[in-house]
Amino acid sequence: MRGLTGKSVIVTGASSGIGRATAARLLEEGAQVLGADLSPSADRPASDGSSDAWAFIRVDVSDESSVAAMVAEGVSLFGRIDGVVNAAGVAGGGAVHMVDAAEWRRVIDVNLFGTFLVAKHVITQMLGQELVDGARGSVVTIASIEGIEGTAGGSAYSASKGGVVILTKNMAIDYAGRGIRVNSVCPGFIDTPMTANIFGLDGMETPRHDIIKEHKLGRFGEPEEIASAACFLLSSDASFVTGHSLIVDGGYTAGRDHGVTEMLGLAGP
Ligand code: NAP
Repeated sequence: MRGLTGKSVIVTGASSGIGRATAARLLEEGAQVLGADLSPSADRPASDGSSDAWAFIRVDVSDESSVAAMVAEGVSLFGRIDGVVNAAGVAGGGAVHMVDAAEWRRVIDVNLFGTFLVAKHVITQMLGQELVDGARGSVVTIASIEGIEGTAGGSAYSASKGGVVILTKNMAIDYAGRGIRVNSVCPGFIDTPMTANIFGLDGMETPRHDIIKEHKLGRFGEPEEIASAACFLLSSDASFVTGHSLIVDGGYTAGRDHGVTEMLGLAGP
């Protein structure tokens, strides 16, 4: 990908799943990465790239002083912040009559308020930076297909991700004139610790099977398949892309099948 070598990027949620795969891909592309997560430390996620291009800081994205300290650390390490991928997130929700107010707040706090805080502090830094190749920076949020369409029991999670999708579009409008692009990736179901925890619960075998079928490619995605989309949006290959929700979902949101591909002899390998 063009324009990632030597760039400085903050990745939240970098200890696990999509965030970790994104940090690894960025290091392979020659970027400098400040990984951040709730966990106190994380190993360098990739073998390629310069060994001093990786640093890690603990962050709670729902705590403003913690987010401010993360961005300050990035600036102190790299001198500027060219990009951010906010992959920190939590699952949670349920049918609304069953959801505790505290659980609702927890999900919104991390997924939506956290996205706001990370964007606020990174964009404040970017606005003060010199233009490089006509750009001050690129912001990538990780939303979800559950922010595009409803899912049974989604509630707090879907509301948080729908909020991330529209917040991303608003930020794209606000900062385009200052050379800052803002886009989201909307993953389908991806094989990470988050989904392993959910689908490891008793009774989840049937929903898991049905969900796999809803992905027209017939499987969960891999974190690396979301990392490549996030890196594309950060890179100068996406220099004319802003305000976009890039759906990476193996065809989940393409539409319904209704068994017709089977009738046509088009199902299966
Ligand atoms: P994951 O493997 O659980 O990774 C998420 C990471 O974020 C974890 O290390 C988690 O730490 C961290 N985190 C949670 N709360 C945080 C906070 N307040 N501050 C900083 N870090 C925090 O999940 P994932 O599947 O990679 O998900 C990454 C993002 O993609 C999330 O926003 C998720 O909603 C989104 N997404 C995932 C899927 C999917 O199918 N996997 C689909 C669509 C969208 P702990 O483990 O300590 O909580």
